[in-house]
Amino acid sequence: MPEPEQTMDEGEVETFAFQAEIAQLMSLIINTFYSNKEIFLRELISNSSDALDKIRYESLTDPSKLDHGKDLEIRIIPDKNNNTLTIIDTGIGMTKADLVNNLGTIAKSGTKAFMEALQAGADISMIGQFGVGFYSAYLVADKVVVQTKHNDDEEYIWESAAGGSFTVKTVTGGESIGRGTKITLYMKEDQAEYLEEKRIKEVVKKHSQFIGYPIKLLVEKERDKEVSDDEEEEKKEDEDEEKKDDKPKVEDLEEDDEDEDKDKDKKKKKKIKEKYTEDEELNKMKPIWTRNPDDITQEEYGEFYKSLTNDWEDHLAVKHFSVEGQLEFRALLFVPKRAPFDMFENKKKKNNIKLYVRRVFIMDNCEDLIPEYLNFVKGVVDSEDLPLNISREMLQQSKILKVIRKNLVKKCLELFDDIAEDKDNYKKFYEHFGKNLKLGIHEDSTNRKKIADYLRYFTSSSGEEMSSLKEYVSRMKENQKMIYYITGESKDVVQNSAFVERLRKRGLEVIYMIDPIDEYAVQQLKEYDGKNLVSVTKEGLELPEDEEEKKKFEEDKAAFEGLCKVMKDILDKKVEKVTVSNRLVTSPCCIVTSQYGWSANMERIMKAQALRDTSTMGYMAAKKHLEINPEHAIIKSLKEKSDADKNDKAVKDLVVLLFETSLLASGFSLEEPQSHANRIHRMIKLGLGIDEEDVPVEQTTTEEMPPLEGDEDDASRMEEVD
Ligand code: ADP
Ligand code: MG
Repeated sequence: MPEPEQTMDEGEVETFAFQAEIAQLMSLIINTFYSNKEIFLRELISNSSDALDKIRYESLTDPSKLDHGKDLEIRIIPDKNNNTLTIIDTGIGMTKADLVNNLGTIAKSGTKAFMEALQAGADISMIGQFGVGFYSAYLVADKVVVQTKHNDDEEYIWESAAGGSFTVKTVTGGESIGRGTKITLYMKEDQAEYLEEKRIKEVVKKHSQFIGYPIKLLVEKERDKEVSDDEEEEKKEDEDEEKKDDKPKVEDLEEDDEDEDKDKDKKKKKKIKEKYTEDEELNKMKPIWTRNPDDITQEEYGEFYKSLTNDWEDHLAVKHFSVEGQLEFRALLFVPKRAPFDMFENKKKKNNIKLYVRRVFIMDNCEDLIPEYLNFVKGVVDSEDLPLNISREMLQQSKILKVIRKNLVKKCLELFDDIAEDKDNYKKFYEHFGKNLKLGIHEDSTNRKKIADYLRYFTSSSGEEMSSLKEYVSRMKENQKMIYYITGESKDVVQNSAFVERLRKRGLEVIYMIDPIDEYAVQQLKEYDGKNLVSVTKEGLELPEDEEEKKKFEEDKAAFEGLCKVMKDILDKKVEKVTVSNRLVTSPCCIVTSQYGWSANMERIMKAQALRDTSTMGYMAAKKHLEINPEHAIIKSLKEKSDADKNDKAVKDLVVLLFETSLLASGFSLEEPQSHANRIHRMIKLGLGIDEEDVPVEQTTTEEMPPLEGDEDDASRMEEVD
């Protein structure tokens, strides 16, 4: 049968080039050998469902948006004669700009990310997660035609057979589709299976059974019909006329020989089989969250999760619950196995919980439904109490929503408890969502205590496994009152840092906080199980000491008071204080920061945030205290020298060098690395016995070099060192 003539009055055809990455993606999709092509249908149905969600949401505040009188639904129409598969939805449709932007000229971050993922061995079925699912149509089709109508614009037809370009033209008359989108796939020759009823039903059941709008498949059926001979004659003549859906057609006729008597009476009655087509709803099941959890299998939860999220693998954990009483709602919450590739991207939607009111979808980006740190939790909430026509603004004020939110958070935390029962699962979970939990410590003061239990850290005695704070506390020494931690760039850096030395030597465990967000989280956390969290890089570190140690420390303080003062005078504004340290073993000195200022690590993080307002750097910047190790040979010898002559120039030089080296060792960066390098070079020359005068080439550079502290008499200066 010939394709119906396109008698529409069409505007001019515009041709567009696909954005380069999209064109690349399309040819990858077309040319990669890949057998699991069926997922194209899931992607197109998912887009239709999204489009229906959008019009549904707009209609809440403006019911006239649904004026076309069409049900919110998705129809699938296979046409074997024309070798096409058509998917029609009554969703929001696309304006011309939407068509051009969303289907071809603007690449999303996922376009490239998906191609990279493919290169790294990802599966094409993951396409939906990267926000480019539409193009999966080219797995099965040579050509795709998208006819669409948005309330705010004319009706358009987009068309592309790939090859780098697509066309868009206006439809000004003819067969309008009202509101929504109709996607026609011109199937590749070897993809005819997707025109078979059985196959389509199978694919929809597998991937889309939980879609929240009816999915209707146009199926061919047969039924018996009694016709008189006359009618039969007429029918036969009709057969040549154009086929129309639902209009009965004579397919076959059989003599009915059983009721001969009857036949004699009504001579002309005959029974025939006729073919007809009808829409069959494929996803008639009740929404899964309304069912009894006891009757739902893990597989069903998995299928629902996947259709909800576009994920290609099952969830890690699920919580299905209802709340009754003053307020009633049901919810289904999932924790995915992985973080999405763009979790912390700014313009991503704020959460992944779909809000329903009495089974009707309302919106999927209600910010107040769940706190930001839990935005990785996916699921649905179905409220019995909210009004159907609720707007975003009303929701923000809603007491009901606040109660729902509180409950969701509580259930999420329970869900994490469930996950924690299996160590390996928890490890995976923490790897992907640990940052979120730390954000939770920062954001959620109500649940801070509880969330602290979910934290895991490497510590000076945890080895390869991470440790919980609870485990840390259980290992605390009898006289230990505090929980010690260090923040820094990496495990390697912190475990070798001078700050950790003494504590490790005494068998005190130190927690390694090596995630930038730890700096923020720990500021809020402050204590766990009644024990203060204390940074080993900050001033005033108190370690459990016996009487003897205390006495020794007091003696050291007295003995080195003079040197401390000399050093402070030399370093002047560079440091707040110079004090005797009780935390060093093998290093001569270290830089600690004041209790409430930034740590070295925080200063590093802040400097790395290029766009930050630099004015806060001044007063927030770490206040540095230099601590000296009274046991160290360098410090002892320095003390002797300065005791002998307060104004010894060598002492001044060395103090500055010591200070700058401690800055580096303590994780700070140098303000003037070049002058530090110059100082070191001079020391090296000295070590090699090179006389300044012997190196004529360097003469000029030495002159430009900044003088060392108190440097008036350059020539004799270094000799005094040894
Ligand atoms: P995603 O669905 O993740 O956004 P897709 O590649 O599947 O990515 O779709 C791209 C965009 O095209 C969608 O975001 C939407 O704006 C538009 N689109 C696709 N299909 C439809 C449809 N049936 N109705 C309305 N818009 C659609
Ligand atoms: Mg999609």
